[in-house]
Amino acid sequence: AEWSAWAFQSVISPVYLLDPASNRYILMATEGLYLKAVGKVSLAHSEGLVGLVGSREEPINLEDAPSHPRYRYFPETGEERFRSFLGVPIIHHRRVLGVLVVQQRESSRCFDEGEEAFLVTVSAQLAGVIAHSEATGAISGLSLTGEEARDVSFNGVPGAPGVAIGHGVVVYPAADLDVVPDRPAEDIELELGLFRSAVQAVCEDIEQVAKRLTSRLRPEELALFDVYLRMLGDEALPGEVNSRIREGIWAQGALKQVVQHYVRHFEMMDDHYLQERAVDVRDLGRRLLSYLQEGEQKDLNYPERTVLVSEELTPAMLGEVPRGQLVGLVSVKGSSNSHVAILARAMGVPTVMGLVDIPVNQLDGKELIVDGFEGQIFASPSADLRTFFQEICDEEDELDRGLEALRDKPCETTDGYRVPLLVNTGLMTDVVRSLSHGAEGIGLYRTEVPFMIKDRFPSEQEQRQYYREQLEAFAPNPVTMRTLDIGGDKSLTYFPIQEENPFLGWRGIRVTLDHPEIFLVQVRAMLKASEGLNNLQVMLPMISNISEVEESLHLIYRVYHEVREEGYDIQMPKVGVMIEIPAAVYQIRELADRVDFLSVGSNDLTQYLLAVDRNNPRVAQLYHSYHPAVLQALVRVAQDAHAAGKPVGICGELAGDPGGALLLMAMGYDSLSMNAASLPKVKSVIRSVSREWAVKLLKDVLLLDSPHVIKSCVDLALRNAGFGRYLRPGKSKSAALAGQAEP
Ligand code: PEP
Ligand code: MG
Repeated sequence: AEWSAWAFQSVISPVYLLDPASNRYILMATEGLYLKAVGKVSLAHSEGLVGLVGSREEPINLEDAPSHPRYRYFPETGEERFRSFLGVPIIHHRRVLGVLVVQQRESSRCFDEGEEAFLVTVSAQLAGVIAHSEATGAISGLSLTGEEARDVSFNGVPGAPGVAIGHGVVVYPAADLDVVPDRPAEDIELELGLFRSAVQAVCEDIEQVAKRLTSRLRPEELALFDVYLRMLGDEALPGEVNSRIREGIWAQGALKQVVQHYVRHFEMMDDHYLQERAVDVRDLGRRLLSYLQEGEQKDLNYPERTVLVSEELTPAMLGEVPRGQLVGLVSVKGSSNSHVAILARAMGVPTVMGLVDIPVNQLDGKELIVDGFEGQIFASPSADLRTFFQEICDEEDELDRGLEALRDKPCETTDGYRVPLLVNTGLMTDVVRSLSHGAEGIGLYRTEVPFMIKDRFPSEQEQRQYYREQLEAFAPNPVTMRTLDIGGDKSLTYFPIQEENPFLGWRGIRVTLDHPEIFLVQVRAMLKASEGLNNLQVMLPMISNISEVEESLHLIYRVYHEVREEGYDIQMPKVGVMIEIPAAVYQIRELADRVDFLSVGSNDLTQYLLAVDRNNPRVAQLYHSYHPAVLQALVRVAQDAHAAGKPVGICGELAGDPGGALLLMAMGYDSLSMNAASLPKVKSVIRSVSREWAVKLLKDVLLLDSPHVIKSCVDLALRNAGFGRYLRPGKSKSAALAGQAEP
């Protein structure tokens, strides 16, 4: 309404968008008379008042624009007839996308504060929409001006290093209507048939349930089932879905549209009873969808080189791609320390997370380049760009082959300081990779991973098998098994936890102490699995109170005695705690007195010290394990643990970062546990420096106050030591594309 009121006062409101390809502002929208100028008029990046608004990144409100020194005159736009000017930048995630302008014919009337505030609001809302549609255009290879634009990058957050070139396959969580992509029906009759069988199957299910419950429900409750069946009658929901399929939409998409339409309709009603029906429609929709999707994900034809793309990747999705065909991963949600990213690093699959503005569905079937070093992807790349990235892939492979020779060499500095390198595992495939990379034991077995890929809690017997595999593979070396650490971003479909603040909520030890039946079964399975091997260590996650340790120890001792009484010949395992909450940093002595070892979870410790959600790409640039506060905490933990006479290791991602590993070794950490893919690089770095040199580096960086400066300082030291190639791909992309040599 306010917008149209402005129109009456003969206001024009051109929108200029910044074209990343040419770095010019292009007139994209304006009113009536001057429509011809759209897409034709453009300004250099720093030209005119528009350029000034963009470079100052703040609104500019002028009473008499033509008298401003930066005023630029464009006859095509008819701007000379307007005097006052209000320009507001359109900014999305710190990037200027364009400038929104309003101009007014009446002379000497400044736009007032209310109008300025209104325009700022509009611009903030436009930003997300523009970013999204820009991405849509760029995927299909078009620039803002409609010209061909290749090799536009989409930026996310680095998830797992490496480069992948392959074809996108969009996957979505099963039976979730909201994420079903819009696809055309390839065969309308086939889709109609699929939908008919789904309706029939759901009707049968409902009739069966109703029959089973007849004796237990009152007639008015049973009537609900009739309501369901009526909704599934030909005249109701299926009729509408069928007509959409006939219009050429695939069955799942048609179902989504119809269900969403009904749900919105019911939700808007005043009547409470009818509002509730929205829930029923959604439920029916989910049931129908799950029949439509039955067997579908398995039938998915994965290309030879699959780049899996999803709104939200889950560990289960990774497992579905046949071995050897998964080359890259792209996720809209999540950030570099989300658990899926950690899993991807362990599997050595290049990954980009947090690609928030990308219309995922359009990546299906497209050729994609995933640059996991920089956190970027490219769709439908040019031949030059493909060659450039192929060379990086080849270099990486060569580097990995060169490191294979280190497998059986000890991890020892040039002055003879030994630091054992351990691995973090989750799946059996990790174990295989770890052994071939020369790991000296498991520093963290994330037991929740096998739980996450099942559709129910694994039984004691099943768990015992998983655990035995891990223990056997590394015996006699230690295998550290962490008790179930669910909550946060790790949920089990069959044990959903809905919370406002999952990372500050019911997570890790808090869940398992509230559910001793889960904890006891798990510990029992671990202890039985260790029979005859005796290399088990048990580790407790998310400890924030001494009482949690005491309660857990009590339960572990109980299981130990019971299992021995059952006749198993086992030893009491070493028990340790994870230091991943700031509170624990200040209670090292009290903790150390009660357990055998400590292990720092730097991923969570960073998240909680810096108050930065590790799963949120919006704050990814603030998540920094090189933050001085994090380093100080790490130094303190190592000192206090040693003062208490207990060993302390680290199993967060920092340990697998070559620079981070050097600092941790210098701090005195007794072991470093990392994903298998990082191990050879870390070993080669440690083997070529002296501990004295690392201690000096640590001393230097502890004097610095900025995470970025610390990172640069560590990178420089690595480069000087001859390890520049571990930092990121050797060449610069723009130089390669321009056919130039590396500087
Ligand atoms: C950590 O928090 O650093 C850790 C190793 O545990 P996870 O990443 O599984 O939370
Ligand atoms: Mg953790």
